[in-house]
Amino acid sequence: MTIRPDAAAAAADIASGLLIDGEWTRAESTFDVLDPATGTVIAAVADAGVEQGLAALDSISRAAPAWAHTASRERAEILRRAFDAVISQREDFARLISAEMGKPLSESRAEVDYGAEFLRWYSEEAVRPEGEYRRSPDGGSRLLVARRPVGPCLLITPWNFPLAMATRKIGAALAAGCTAIIKPAAQTPLSTIRLAQVLVEVGLPDGALNVITTTTAGKVSTALLADGRIRKISFTGSTGVGRVLISQCGQHVVRPSMELGGNAPFIVDADADVWRAVDGAMLAKMRNMGEACTAANRFLVHRSVAPVFSSLLSERMAALKVGHGLDPETQVGPVIDEAARTGLAELIEDAVSRGAKVTTGGRAIDGPGTFFEPTVVTDVPTDSRMFGEEIFGPIAGITVFDDLDEAVHLANDTEYGLAAYLYSGNVERGLRTAERLDFGMVGLNRAIVSNAAAPFGGIKQSGLGREGGREGINDYLDLQYVAIDA
Ligand code: NAD
Repeated sequence: MTIRPDAAAAAADIASGLLIDGEWTRAESTFDVLDPATGTVIAAVADAGVEQGLAALDSISRAAPAWAHTASRERAEILRRAFDAVISQREDFARLISAEMGKPLSESRAEVDYGAEFLRWYSEEAVRPEGEYRRSPDGGSRLLVARRPVGPCLLITPWNFPLAMATRKIGAALAAGCTAIIKPAAQTPLSTIRLAQVLVEVGLPDGALNVITTTTAGKVSTALLADGRIRKISFTGSTGVGRVLISQCGQHVVRPSMELGGNAPFIVDADADVWRAVDGAMLAKMRNMGEACTAANRFLVHRSVAPVFSSLLSERMAALKVGHGLDPETQVGPVIDEAARTGLAELIEDAVSRGAKVTTGGRAIDGPGTFFEPTVVTDVPTDSRMFGEEIFGPIAGITVFDDLDEAVHLANDTEYGLAAYLYSGNVERGLRTAERLDFGMVGLNRAIVSNAAAPFGGIKQSGLGREGGREGINDYLDLQYVAIDA
């Protein structure tokens, strides 16, 4: 194993305990956080059990009424100060993200900017929830409609964007006046812990946010949802775990927001600017080493442009510099762990056994860390696993189509509905085609759809609810109306 002192140093000032009721609290045991580029331990954090989870629930339940009644301007100011603090510590956060998750520093810096933006966005939204004064149609009464916080929340985040997934949930919950427990992924808890340290430093009251790190997520969240005091869960992760959580919400009719898996089509039409489409493909596929729910998963390319698109994409992928995220010239880091890497090799084997061809890459890279070669596979059959499942790694699979209706049909033929991309030389046709794509978000001649000001989320089995935009805060607010005989 290669030791990277800079990776360990990035994690040096991180609290190792659980944040419960404003105190960093020890647990009986800890678990290790690894640098996926070397396999070495960079930190050990508290491993909470059900008991600590319930202590955190006591804390957010106690703090809920006062936080709900805190003036929204005050809540907004705390979030705004947190935004300023995260931005002023941009480099430290970026190094921490690269150390625990593996992505290149340039992408970690972009995640800090994107993640911090949710704190600023929700600091602005905190003061905006609207009410309405209505007259009943018979003229006999007045209906006063107001929004109020749903109550204590459970927030569960994945490892792929360890800071941004936390800020977009925490920002919305706190802005709405909800208290929350956040449970980050066990692979990448450090960015969330550091974010919580920042929130405490800028004046967040005790109990408004608790942090629970654990290796037994299912056990702890099952106990929390069975208790009855959690009123909302916001989960980002795999569709399989999302289904389990939705069913657990039934016991106490808890409101679920679910940001789940994707299987994004990336359609390149006959009249598209192929060079622009290849630039877009590199971004939509390779951001985060392909480990993004919005990552392009199925390249559907018109037969007339497929040869040039495939060869340009293969050239660009082959030229990428793979390395440790903390090395400044690195463009592609490791995938998150060995299980993920083995899964990628299996997807390629399956596609090749059905007639697909590897034009570049295709294998795990020997040596320490869980690196995988940037890969392009052409002639991917529609019955292959790579076409039907979320790849979540640096593999671009290309399938050829002959007319746009066929491409739209193939694109929609999935249980997922998160993001889709379309490259077209004709904006009007592109827009009409975008409307026929059954996805919550569509990039039209654009490869990035994430934006704090936009309603991020999926349809079908990609999720429920939206994060960001004007819509995001509403997931944390209930409606109440007061009827008056007047
Ligand atoms: P995962 O579902 O394995 O884990 C996500 C989180 O859930 C982690 O914190 C994990 O500890 C926790 N968890 C695991 N089992 C649980 C259980 N039984 N009960 C409660 N919590 C549990 O997903 P992952 O591998 O960390 O992340 C990858 C997945 O997340 C992909 O499918 C990806 O598409 C999805 N994702 C979706 C979005 C989105 O916004 N739609 C964003 C990022 C990632």
